[in-house]
Amino acid sequence: MRTRKSIMSLIVAKFGGTSVASPERIQMVAKRLVASKQAGNEVVAVVSAMGKTTDELLGLARAINPDPPAREMDRLLSTGEQVSMTLLAMAIEARGFKAMSFTGRQAGIETDGMHAKAKIHEVHAERIREALDAGFIPVVAGFQGIDPHGDITTLGRGGSDTTAVAISWGIGADVCEIYSDVDGVYTADPRIAPRARKLDAICYDDMLELSSAGAGVLQMRAVEFARKYQVIIHSRSAFSDATGTYIKEATPEMEEAVITGIAHDTSEVKVTIRGVPDTTGVAAKVFSALAGNMVNTDMIIQNISEAGITDISFTCPSADLKRAQETVERVLPEIGAREYDIDEDIAKVSIVGTGMKSSPGVAAKAFSALGESQINILAISTSPIRLSVVVDGAQTAAAVRCLHTAFGLDSDCIFEETQLSAEEIAAKMQKGR
Ligand code: ASP
Ligand code: MG
Repeated sequence: MRTRKSIMSLIVAKFGGTSVASPERIQMVAKRLVASKQAGNEVVAVVSAMGKTTDELLGLARAINPDPPAREMDRLLSTGEQVSMTLLAMAIEARGFKAMSFTGRQAGIETDGMHAKAKIHEVHAERIREALDAGFIPVVAGFQGIDPHGDITTLGRGGSDTTAVAISWGIGADVCEIYSDVDGVYTADPRIAPRARKLDAICYDDMLELSSAGAGVLQMRAVEFARKYQVIIHSRSAFSDATGTYIKEATPEMEEAVITGIAHDTSEVKVTIRGVPDTTGVAAKVFSALAGNMVNTDMIIQNISEAGITDISFTCPSADLKRAQETVERVLPEIGAREYDIDEDIAKVSIVGTGMKSSPGVAAKAFSALGESQINILAISTSPIRLSVVVDGAQTAAAVRCLHTAFGLDSDCIFEETQLSAEEIAAKMQKGR
């Protein structure tokens, strides 16, 4: 019988592309895994492809065929992780420890057949378990699985996070450590809010809402999977030993905070249709046409009509702008609207917190803070645990900072790298567009 007497924990450790970008970094990862094993843990590694490999493979494929077959594309992309997994296994062996690499199929990751965004159905982790029992450090290729026909699938960009959570579930790991170039989840992006604090812990719901509002620490699918199967995630830095942020079920002390964090997203654009006759069915026409053209609308605002004429605005990802424009130009004469315009320089700033549910006055406080900072609100949307406002792109940093202060999130120490003023950051962000 297997005894866990001397074992401290069963850990899955996932390393992203930057953490395995070079031979030196792969050595660093191997060193870390070996140290964890020496400390008495059982460890399984999950890796992403080295550096920008996935982007490079995508570029190669598109240079050959602008519309590559999905099956071949997944087969190609899955090779990136197979390079890093074998190199990491070799690096561990070079340190005198036993390691064995596994593709998605070998690790028992079974998915549906939706190439490029496959969903995991089952994890048959027997081989990983056996390798652990035999004293190996198993190294699993992230981002990939196998469909019912035996074809290779991939799990969507950033999908190695999901692999790590799935393997954690499959083997019943105590924790799923996700190593990256950031050291955890912050109350706001420290690059624009210098008083942002690293959170010790955050609940699944808040993490999901922050991710969907623009915080890019973890792949959302991974957090959804973790919530469903109660896998504890520890998001931490690959370049230090500091504790990061635990993502787990809500605890009473987490719920004391009204607002957990603030996210911003500058990837959306706003389209306004002007001079729209305020008659039944107009909104249905506009938004059915947009949906039919695969435009993902986010916020929608319709003004009160004056003399039967109104304006309708919506926001959508910049990636959908071309399609949105085509659609609006087509429906404009159909609905008898006058004109439309596009505002590409906007930002969505969201405050998120499960605690909001039981605390009235959040909106009032947020609007007052923005008003005092002379920030004009262009659109508003809410969910039970989120309040989002659209503001002028140049005011992104100012909006995040004033909300951060208003909701008592400011830390006493200032994040070293961010000594820039809100104006300087606005100028930088403008340039980056
Ligand atoms: N290599 C894949 C990507 O770049 C998966 C991952 O990094 O998690 O999206
Ligand atoms: Mg990644």
